[in-house]
Amino acid sequence: MTTPVYLDYAATTPVDPRVAETMAGYLTLDGIFANPASRSHMLGWQAEQAVESARRQVADLIGADPREIVWTSGATEADNLALTGFLRANRHRGRHLVTSVIEHKAVVDTAEALEAEGFEVTWLTPGQDGRVTPEQLREALREDTVLVSLMAVNNELGVIHDLAALAEVAHTGGAAFHVDAAQAVGRIDLDVERSGIDLMSLSGHKAYGPKGVGALYVRRHPDIRVEALIHGGGHERGMRSGTLPTHQIVGMGEAFALAGAEGEADQARITALRDRLLAGLADLDGIHRNTLVEAAVPNILNLAFEGVEGESLLMALRDIALSTGSACNSASVEPSYVLKGIGLPRPLALASLRFSFGRFTTEADIDRALSALRHALTGLRRRAI
Ligand SMILES: *Cc1c(COP(=O)(O)O)cnc(C)c1O
Repeated sequence: MTTPVYLDYAATTPVDPRVAETMAGYLTLDGIFANPASRSHMLGWQAEQAVESARRQVADLIGADPREIVWTSGATEADNLALTGFLRANRHRGRHLVTSVIEHKAVVDTAEALEAEGFEVTWLTPGQDGRVTPEQLREALREDTVLVSLMAVNNELGVIHDLAALAEVAHTGGAAFHVDAAQAVGRIDLDVERSGIDLMSLSGHKAYGPKGVGALYVRRHPDIRVEALIHGGGHERGMRSGTLPTHQIVGMGEAFALAGAEGEADQARITALRDRLLAGLADLDGIHRNTLVEAAVPNILNLAFEGVEGESLLMALRDIALSTGSACNSASVEPSYVLKGIGLPRPLALASLRFSFGRFTTEADIDRALSALRHALTGLRRRAI
């Protein structure tokens, strides 16, 4: 059996070998394994130094102060801490949150849980391109709106939000601005100052770092308050207790430093790969671009193949690792809520695949995917007639 071509970088990326090598130095007896909270010996201080140096690497990539970075177990936890922690800490000021129907489940499900807790949520429906406009946001703001949460880059479509414009509207309305930037690191320029971001969720494993680590950026000026969700030893200035996983944190720091140094070059190469895939399909009929390519990161491309079912296509493409975004249970296949959210007709939503590329994707990978895809499409469409 040949190894499948991996075109599912939006689900997770492999750890960069340079990152893995760095991490290996923080696990065993001959490495820096001590508890970074141990104050009574040098081994603890060394671990603490490694954690603080990684905190600076993450802060540097987004134009933040290291003291504004709170380590978490991933972007899911960061989203939970941003929404729940902020709304609970600011409930005296208002109870209203504005977000969109195509956010990641970590935001959608948290917002629903907050609704059950008595907070109020306005769910914006983006345009067909997947973007919420500043005008739409302005209309949704209320006297009691305290927080707006919108993602930087949508994980199924790749579309990029105009963060600076949205932040300005939120601030004018007196609300804080949270951004889920899990898919944005190394793909677009992220600067919390220039874009006016108050809270930002980050993940290690979407940017060639390890799984199980992330961070929440929490602005200090003006002071943004979040209530802790996890209580314990008072780590991370009381916002998130728990012994810090030094190896994970060092890995995320190194991955973010590489994103800063190589992200732009990566994206230029990936743009050419994305265009190679599009060019290789150009002569086929009935291919609909769900991704507005001009407004999206080049590493995510969502396409609908008219007249076929995404699940059958996926089955026929066993040698290509990619995703449909749809949720399966045994009884039925439901189209992706993101594709539904942008108003894509159900048959097209069910005929959609997400291709996502990354640092280690080659031209040969694209060519293998193209030939498998063309073969599968011809077969499935012939059968459908
Ligand atoms: C992957 C992802 C998450 C979840 O991140 P984890 O670190 O896996 O918890 C959240 N938001 C977006 C947009 C993502 O792509």
